[in-house]
Amino acid sequence: MIKHTGAVVLAAGSGSRMQSKIKKQYLEIEGKPLIYYALQAFEQSSVEQVVLVAAPGDEDYCRREIVETYQFHKVKKIIGGGKERYHSVFYGLQQLDLCDYVLIHDGARPFVTPYMIERALDGARTYQACVVGMPVKDTIKISDSNGYAEYTPNRKSVWMIQTPQAFSFPLIREAYEKLLQQTEVSVTDDAMAVETFMNKKVKLIPGSYYNIKITTPEDLKTAEVFLKDQSYKEF
Ligand code: C5P
Repeated sequence: MIKHTGAVVLAAGSGSRMQSKIKKQYLEIEGKPLIYYALQAFEQSSVEQVVLVAAPGDEDYCRREIVETYQFHKVKKIIGGGKERYHSVFYGLQQLDLCDYVLIHDGARPFVTPYMIERALDGARTYQACVVGMPVKDTIKISDSNGYAEYTPNRKSVWMIQTPQAFSFPLIREAYEKLLQQTEVSVTDDAMAVETFMNKKVKLIPGSYYNIKITTPEDLKTAEVFLKDQSYKEF
């Protein structure tokens, strides 16, 4: 039986840590708006439909300046996001047409590639829930509330988690429905919703060290170097 795939690409953040007048998703790097790069990777992948979640009020701008300008045919809907990331994800999931597997991706990660998307999709087919990430290179310390090192996890088992995060659609939809019923929510990624509410283990698979999230001004400088060099496309 043919399995259908969809993606929710998130671009509804305020980008306040970028200290820029223009929202970070529209800042140009190498002549294209930041959000272009992630959408282009999805356009070139086997994913069939993309829901783009924009900041409320930016939907028309995104349609005109991004989706039409660059002819992203897979973007079937552009919707306004919510206050927190998890609201935006929930709204996006509700707008996907019937599909079996879904990827959720931060539009602020331009170095996702079609290969990475296919790896994540394979992971979703095999494990129902998987996230891309990479083992950390630095030693990580957990601090106590006074700023002292409390403990140091074994570096071999610490991963930094990226997106895309890929799931069986019914699993992630139910996880988010349960999450939205909570009064206090502290999940920071989609995997946490599945871990917390569905009692399901999430598989970690390799993303790439290039797959950074553009958050602060120095990340833009790194992004320019990566884009000029193009090596990120191999991962
Ligand atoms: O804020 P943070 O860097 O964790 O955001 C990760 C991604 O989630 C970004 O692509 C951002 O645009 C998106 N986001 C969203 N809706 C929010 C907050 C963040 O779509 N309310």
